[in-house]
Amino acid sequence: MSNSKLKFMKNSKAAGEYDVLILGSGAGGKLIAWTLGKKGMKVAVVERKYIGGACPNIACLPSKNVIQSAKVASYFFRSAEFGITKDNTRIDMAAVRERKRRMVTGLVDLHLDLYKKSGAELIMGSGRFTAPKTIEVTSADGQKRVVRGKKVVINTGSHATIDSTPGLAEAKPLTHIEALELDRIPEHLLLVGGGYVGLEFAQAMRRFGSRVTVIERNSRLLSREDEDISIAMHELLKDEGIEVITGARINRVEGQSGNWVKLYANHDGSEITLQGTDIMVAAGRTPNTNGIGLDVAGVQLTKNGYIKVNDRLETTAPDVWAAGDCAGSPQFTHISENDFLIIHDNILGGQRVTTGRQVPFCMFTDPEFARIGLNETEAKEKGIAYRVAKIPMAAILRTRTISEPRGFLKALVDANSDRILGFTILGAEGGEIMPTVQVAMLAGIPYTTLRDAIFAHPTMHEGLNALFGAVPAKT
Ligand SMILES: Cc1cc2nc3c(=O)[nH]c(=O)nc-3n(C[C@H](O)[C@H](O)[C@H](O)COP(=O)(O)OP(=O)(O)OC[C@H]3O[C@@H](n4cnc5c(N)ncnc54)[C@H](O)[C@@H]3O)c2cc1C
Repeated sequence: MSNSKLKFMKNSKAAGEYDVLILGSGAGGKLIAWTLGKKGMKVAVVERKYIGGACPNIACLPSKNVIQSAKVASYFFRSAEFGITKDNTRIDMAAVRERKRRMVTGLVDLHLDLYKKSGAELIMGSGRFTAPKTIEVTSADGQKRVVRGKKVVINTGSHATIDSTPGLAEAKPLTHIEALELDRIPEHLLLVGGGYVGLEFAQAMRRFGSRVTVIERNSRLLSREDEDISIAMHELLKDEGIEVITGARINRVEGQSGNWVKLYANHDGSEITLQGTDIMVAAGRTPNTNGIGLDVAGVQLTKNGYIKVNDRLETTAPDVWAAGDCAGSPQFTHISENDFLIIHDNILGGQRVTTGRQVPFCMFTDPEFARIGLNETEAKEKGIAYRVAKIPMAAILRTRTISEPRGFLKALVDANSDRILGFTILGAEGGEIMPTVQVAMLAGIPYTTLRDAIFAHPTMHEGLNALFGAVPAKT
């Protein structure tokens, strides 16, 4: 960084005056803080509750921790298949929760250490703009403090949407936050939402022993994916004993979660009722942009309530950026982390943009579902001519050694060149296989390289030889 840029950052001496002030300690915000703090800038992050944001406390990492416990449970219940006998298997949800809590505590300590080492200040309290680039922080004990930044980054994240369906809020539904804190197994969980958060929880809870009913408003699960994925996922969940009801619109809710709950829904032109003991909502996210004074800060919102940003993640207020879920970025931790790179460079005078970036994702059901690049539905919508190859996971010999033959792999290759357009996998270790194709796409490597590459045997990656070997010839 040039000396002149560092100088403007270093001359804010007044108390409560920072070179860079960040509201919310999500993935993007904390990385900006640590990186600029290490460069000697005066940086502060205002965080109301979760040190390190949602990912390590209430979202990605604790959910995968609990999912892993559920996988161990499923192995126990399948143990005879592997030639291992068992007696008296019992799920202790309090111990499952304890394992998760231990991990979260460790992660919070790790974060505190990184704050300390970077020199970035962590201010615990709820922040609200009172003027442009000026935030009033109210701590848990009600004390107030005003802080100001020459540059400001908003990284306040999102929360689970609880819509206005009559009776839903009164039913006190579980969201992922409460579900991750359960020390009991719900007898019958009604899970509203067939997206990735809902399906990960549905499978985990089923594996712990709950009866689970998933209620999805779209006509199929994972409605943005190709139909073969939706069908395969539906089958997979059904095989585990999960009831899935698609195309259902909930009209009203009665009862209270943890006791009994009744849902009334329109389904196929008639009203159905579903009764369970618990209800969980995983039906979309609402950005944390309400009631934080964005109007007085000159920060405008989109019609859906996200912070309006350009491709440099600049808001409508000068020297104010937004990162992660609240900025309408694709709602993944790795995208918020990429937002950090963009904002970091732009704060320092660079020109980095979000346009054209890859958005990989992985859903941690078992088996996993992962995708990078285009699926068939999107290629058709965009009028992009493609060749498609698809093989079953069972074609990979490794899946037979681990008894995980379910699912398939699919690749889209440009119709007129050897460029890889997209890769989808529903299969064991899908999230670990996808990055190989992703890197090939980033590097512009033709599909034939993966087709002909020598992968160690017997690994899942051998499937890429077979998959790309099945790409039809150009016509
Ligand atoms: C159950 C679940 C599982 C998920 N699993 C994955 C996954 O496997 N992989 C993945 O990539 N993504 C996953 N996600 C999505 C991912 O968690 C989010 O996209 C990511 O955490 C968003 O990060 P962020 O930077 O936008 O902010 P967040 O991490 O949401 O952090 C925002 C922070 O701002 C704080 N804050 C908000 N308002 C204020 C205020 N006024 N004052 C002070 N502080 C404030 C909040 O307390 C919070 O700590 C999952 C989400 C959920 C719900």
